[in-house]
Amino acid sequence: MFKNKSDIFVLDGATGSELDRAGVDVGMPLWSAHAILEAPEILKQVHISYLEAGAQAISTNTFRTHERSLAKAGMGHRAEELTTKAVEIAQSARDEVNTGALVFGSVAPLEDCYSPKLAPLSDVCEQEHGQIICHLVNAGVDLVLIETIASAHEAVAAAKVAKGEWAMSLCMQTDVLGTLLDGTPLTNIIQAFEHAKFIGINCYPATKLAQQVKHLRSIAPNEMAIAAYGNVGHADDEGGWINTDAIDPNIFAEYAMDWVKAGASIVGGCCGTTPKTIAAIRNHCKRV
Ligand SMILES: [Zn+2]
Repeated sequence: MFKNKSDIFVLDGATGSELDRAGVDVGMPLWSAHAILEAPEILKQVHISYLEAGAQAISTNTFRTHERSLAKAGMGHRAEELTTKAVEIAQSARDEVNTGALVFGSVAPLEDCYSPKLAPLSDVCEQEHGQIICHLVNAGVDLVLIETIASAHEAVAAAKVAKGEWAMSLCMQTDVLGTLLDGTPLTNIIQAFEHAKFIGINCYPATKLAQQVKHLRSIAPNEMAIAAYGNVGHADDEGGWINTDAIDPNIFAEYAMDWVKAGASIVGGCCGTTPKTIAAIRNHCKRV
């Protein structure tokens, strides 16, 4: 299904910011994991909204259900339970709206996003990513999506323990081409992802993503599908967030079409995007 030059495949958009918008507590350390226990119906509704907007896959709300993340809230022993429940909520939304859609099991960095220096040692990454990947696969996800990974050794470790169908999406530096946030050139580690269903770049400014996709296309194996799902803005120097014109769904969709032209066949949205963004992508993005 995922091949370079195949038809455009549309992913969903952000879950955490949609839960926040719907009034669900997304306070740290649990962040979006709160919704699994406290607001499963609202979480299901977010998935439904993306499916109705035309998403062909939805990602499980498991960004913070590693044992390590849950342990910060005294709930480490409930990792498998919460991951499984998050998958079940996504599956029930899928079964209700579009049985042909896929459920991707989301695997996030073990520590904060955009903080590659916090990534634990490789053997710890293997053990802890291996655990959540088992939970996701046992719960029946269609594909394990390891995403927003900013550290080379964490990406390689997660790829090593990945099971079933899986894909890898990375977090890159914005001012240098083809360089992970930790400074590693992607060419140094791309070999580790040769068995992935696709390789992607996510949580990157939508406005600048096309050049990174073009570079990734130039170093990826010919048959490898490329995913691109940018965000609507960028962090400022004080740790705040600045939205760009990509916050407009139609403008975001035009950027997404640029990613397609640059070589991506799988497109969607990351932080700050909404079901309207996905609907616009669905209408606007066509194979050229
Ligand atoms: Zn993001």
